Amino acid sequence: MYRFMKFLDTLEHYELVRLKQGMEKGNIDIEKTIQQKIKEHEKKHAKSCTTCSNAIDSYNTNNYTVIFGPGDFRKKASFCGLDCLEYFLIKLKQMKTDAGKTEFSSISQGDDKNAEKTE
Ligand SMILES: [Zn+2]
Repeated sequence: MYRFMKFLDTLEHYELVRLKQGMEKGNIDIEKTIQQKIKEHEKKHAKSCTTCSNAIDSYNTNNYTVIFGPGDFRKKASFCGLDCLEYFLIKLKQMKTDAGKTEFSSISQGDDKNAEKTE
């Protein structure tokens, strides 16, 4: 929200007025626009591999990105190859069976710091 307020600070008065009018007339649908942006982000691979932290080369065909979690708490994890994806899935499965209570929350707080939130 802070960055959004910062963004509004960059707009001129006439731009704010136009933005407000656009929203009122329904020409600008902020919710839809944000939803589209979220989809764009989800389609992209993360910058680094969740398992080994290697940088993800977006042109490499061996990259994999999984999106998981409920719609309003969606998470994304990218992998530089099948081995890393497999390792992650095995670990994820272990975590789910070990402690069915912690669910996905343990992933973001655990050692998978590269897992990106996609919200
Ligand atoms: Zn990797």
